[in-house]
Amino acid sequence: MQAWHELVGDAKFLAALTATDERIASEARRGRCPLCGGRLDRGDFPRKPRPGLGAAESSWSKRISLCCSEEGCRHRVTPPSVRFLGRKVYAAPFIVIALVSAAAAATAAAAIASARTRRRWAEWWQTTFLASACWSELRGRLVPAVSERGLPGSLLARFEGAASEALASMLSAISAVTTPRGLRSVRAM
Ligand SMILES: [Zn+2]
Repeated sequence: MQAWHELVGDAKFLAALTATDERIASEARRGRCPLCGGRLDRGDFPRKPRPGLGAAESSWSKRISLCCSEEGCRHRVTPPSVRFLGRKVYAAPFIVIALVSAAAAATAAAAIASARTRRRWAEWWQTTFLASACWSELRGRLVPAVSERGLPGSLLARFEGAASEALASMLSAISAVTTPRGLRSVRAM
């Protein structure tokens, strides 16, 4: 089985996540603007994801977003993503990998993130993610319950298959947290 930290440079894995985001976006694009019913056009945000992603870099340099084509409305609809968690500059899979893999934390730590950055991510899972509407909804479907203190590793362990499949499935399951609706807090913190 492929080790978690090997996914960092896995072009096929990175391309599959991009394809998932493209598919989610084209589904969202078939809808109309929720405010005025106008057509939705692509209006992606530029990103400079870390760590450097080699050949996948250019396809990962945009967070897919949609924008209403009507003058005076221009309402923005940002579909869920399996590649970017909110405004974090690090690519989503690495925010999971750096926390669940001792090998990634030890050998590839410098390439992925500093200890300080990893502490910040760990805190994000324990605060923002735990309080989110996305987690509140997903949690109810997981039997037996997932250990919240063990996030994100405890959640990742629920998905089967090779490392790349398990991680891709987990990122799909939590993709709602990349939208304002899924990220909103439903718990008193
Ligand atoms: Zn509109």
